[in-house]
Amino acid sequence: MSGLLAAIRLQESGFPYVVVEKNAGVGGTWWENTYPGARVDVGNHFYCYSSEPSDHWTEYFARQPELQAYFQRVLDEHGIGGHVRWKTEVLGATWDEAAGTWSVELDSGEFLTARAVISAVGQLNRPFVPEVPGEFAGPSFHTARWDHAVDLAGKDVVMVGAGATGFQVAPAIADTVGSLTVIQRTAQWMFPNPNYHEAVGPGVRWALRHLPFYGRWFRFLIFWPGCDTGLAAARVDDAWGPQHRSVSEANDFARVMFTDWITGQVGHDPELVAKVVPDYPPTAKRTLQDNGSWLRALTRPNVALVRAGVDRLEPDGVVDGTGVKHPADVVVWATGFRVNDMLLPLRIRGRDGKDLREEWGTRPRAYLGMTVPGFPNFFMMYGPGTNLASSGSLIFHSECEIRYIVRCLRHLADGGHAALEPRPDKYDDWYGRSQAELRSMVWSSPHVEHNFFKNADGEVHSLSPWRLVDFWTWTREPDFADFVIR
Ligand code: NAP
Repeated sequence: MSGLLAAIRLQESGFPYVVVEKNAGVGGTWWENTYPGARVDVGNHFYCYSSEPSDHWTEYFARQPELQAYFQRVLDEHGIGGHVRWKTEVLGATWDEAAGTWSVELDSGEFLTARAVISAVGQLNRPFVPEVPGEFAGPSFHTARWDHAVDLAGKDVVMVGAGATGFQVAPAIADTVGSLTVIQRTAQWMFPNPNYHEAVGPGVRWALRHLPFYGRWFRFLIFWPGCDTGLAAARVDDAWGPQHRSVSEANDFARVMFTDWITGQVGHDPELVAKVVPDYPPTAKRTLQDNGSWLRALTRPNVALVRAGVDRLEPDGVVDGTGVKHPADVVVWATGFRVNDMLLPLRIRGRDGKDLREEWGTRPRAYLGMTVPGFPNFFMMYGPGTNLASSGSLIFHSECEIRYIVRCLRHLADGGHAALEPRPDKYDDWYGRSQAELRSMVWSSPHVEHNFFKNADGEVHSLSPWRLVDFWTWTREPDFADFVIR
């Protein structure tokens, strides 16, 4: 998504460029995640490029094939395909200080030389499968590597993990499988959204297409009340009593509303209620869009929810953390991604051979999420500190980032400069302010035991704590006083 956008903007600005893409086609996460039920959970009329608005989304939250087709259409319309090295993986990149260039190593054995490198690899790219003792003898795969050759009809399926992904998979396969056991370690909060699986009706589509400014207004309604205003509920109010259930008045309001949404559906089943009402503050983990399909799936006679971790695998099943064995023909790992191992497995070597991931250790950071001292002309999209936990479209963030990056490149080219990198004091100041802000948000809450937002030390480095409008303002024009330019 962000790489395609970068290519379009580089092309428009007249910069020669090459895109290196490990997959055989466009879409990134929307190419790889083909699991049943995959759909975006950000309103699609905001989750699209502002310069390529789609007035023909068939659903408010489109499914994966429609999203992938959107990116394909944009790629074709802009003639980007000819610039892409498909099925080619970048292994790393090394800065040559004397030449002022990057040498980019490909898995084909070739090296590309470039004045600047933009990483657009995302944060949800490397699947995470926990190391569990034992071995399962049947088919087993991660949701981002869904094996469509495995027919689930009538099979006993154990799915480990149910965050945003498992939450979509379970309702989509429940009526096909023989049985489904969902092993979900931590319950998830859900946001009631009746439009989640709804088609965009002909009236709305007509208005989006023909009424002047209606599409922009519709987009703004998702952006402002839906995203930036909602951030307030994620902020911790230190004066708000015990913090294990909620962290502020606004957050408690969300807790009551979300709890009512659950009990309104399954209140007659106290055993299930006890399993599905989270025991931590709302929005501390990513809140999921819901129209009731999750709890409807869980109440089917062939579906069971296990509130536990995984202890071990056996050839014919999975033993949960309480020692109960769940027989399985197929095991699905809906266990997420290695978010905190940012840029893994790339080896980015800057000045003096400094390795970026070694420099970061467990604390990845970048000035405005994009640049790092010692790594001249290296830019990241969807880098550290730019993921959106509360709500917001990563496409919006990518648009802010690429505008900023292209202006940096233009400055280099127009000024005849060799290299640009952020001043260490600016970088440290940004990191300090972002960390202070993140510590005041519910995502850092010690009352959530497991959270992919946190690193092993319980610190949050992947997320942005800022409003979208603030990030937009700060990235609108680079301030070249923030950089060392040579
Ligand atoms: P995730 O939110 O990280 O969920 C992983 C699940 O696996 C959780 O239930 C987690 O339990 C469980 N798990 C991890 N390690 C485990 C272990 N050792 N033992 C037992 N359970 C374990 O991953 P995801 O669902 O793939 O979602 C990741 C992100 O992808 C989302 O936050 C979102 O940004 C994006 N996404 C978006 C969409 C969309 O737009 N529609 C759809 C899917 C994903 P704990 O909760 O206890 O850690």
